[in-house]
Amino acid sequence: MTFEFATAGRVVFGAGRVAELPAVLAGLGSRVLVCTGADPARHAGLLAGLGLPATVFPVAGEPTIELARAGAGAAREHGADAVAAIGGGSVIDTAKAIAMLLGNGGDPLDYLEVVGSGRTITQPAVPCVAVPTTAGTGAEVTANAVLASPAHRVKASLRSPLMIPRVALVDPELTASCPPPVTAASGLDALTQCLEPFVSVRANPLTDGLAREGLRRAAAGLRAAYADGTDLGARTDMAMCSLLGGIALANAKLGAVHGLAGVIGGTADVPHGVACAALLAPVMAANVQALRSAQPGHGALDRYTEASQLLTGEPGASIEDGLAWIHETITLLAIPGLGAFGIRPQQADDIAAKAARSSSMQGNPVTLSPSDLRTILIQAI
Ligand SMILES: [Zn+2]
Repeated sequence: MTFEFATAGRVVFGAGRVAELPAVLAGLGSRVLVCTGADPARHAGLLAGLGLPATVFPVAGEPTIELARAGAGAAREHGADAVAAIGGGSVIDTAKAIAMLLGNGGDPLDYLEVVGSGRTITQPAVPCVAVPTTAGTGAEVTANAVLASPAHRVKASLRSPLMIPRVALVDPELTASCPPPVTAASGLDALTQCLEPFVSVRANPLTDGLAREGLRRAAAGLRAAYADGTDLGARTDMAMCSLLGGIALANAKLGAVHGLAGVIGGTADVPHGVACAALLAPVMAANVQALRSAQPGHGALDRYTEASQLLTGEPGASIEDGLAWIHETITLLAIPGLGAFGIRPQQADDIAAKAARSSSMQGNPVTLSPSDLRTILIQAI
């Protein structure tokens, strides 16, 4: 057995612990650029008490190459030597991209995979503290930042262990005001980010432990957090699920759900979590069918069985029971199909071809044929 495992510098987890942000920042730099969502006033109290000179950089949607470039410019103008992110995955990814650019110089396109030069990131990012306000992407502990390139109609990553935020400050209370549709989509992303590393060809004993606990947390918290956003126990389960999934995926890769979701996100305006949620059951069914017909003794089938048992809470559950639980959850959480965002069956071949080349696809436990990918997409529409 041989593997590597990268972790965040420091994880600070617990209800109320966002109060420690000024103390965390004091140890990281002297001037800070703070990325927030479109409405920084939502965090006015937090922003007023940071304790060091700060400039705010609002992030209105999923980040683009241009936005990362503008953010790095704003940070340099402010003389920032640290970056903070208070927001969802888009805000945290923007902050990570800016922190990397401050540490390495140059332009996002110098380092971007797929559509850029893919140059190796050699210098540490400037210190970055990530404070997630949704439970989903795990971006507070991952090594990449996803940027959209509208010109190429695709999303690609800046990626390096040097980009993992120095501090992940995870306070489940911050997710209490997250509206139900965002709780649903980001929660299913978190669940997927535990399941895909668990069946990945790159899984290792450390990521397995994290993924199992993350699946257990999703089973306990996902439906409950959607039904009652003020349920702090459920919010804590989902914040933990997101964190565990983030560390697992950074070390064991993902699979076909994320391979397809990345391409779909570049093709149409589908929130990442919604794309993952819509693809989750069709991909699991296709992987299981491909494995059963080609490699019936493959260990990933046992993994899918175990995941089904964790999700349903039934020690005797089968993979079919797990699929039924996922379908039922998607219905309960009112996740729309991809057709609601303008994805059409005619685009399936093009999406499948692009997804086959994506980095996430390398973790999938079995190679899916173009016709498998097409079937998955039709089901998800
Ligand atoms: Zn994801």
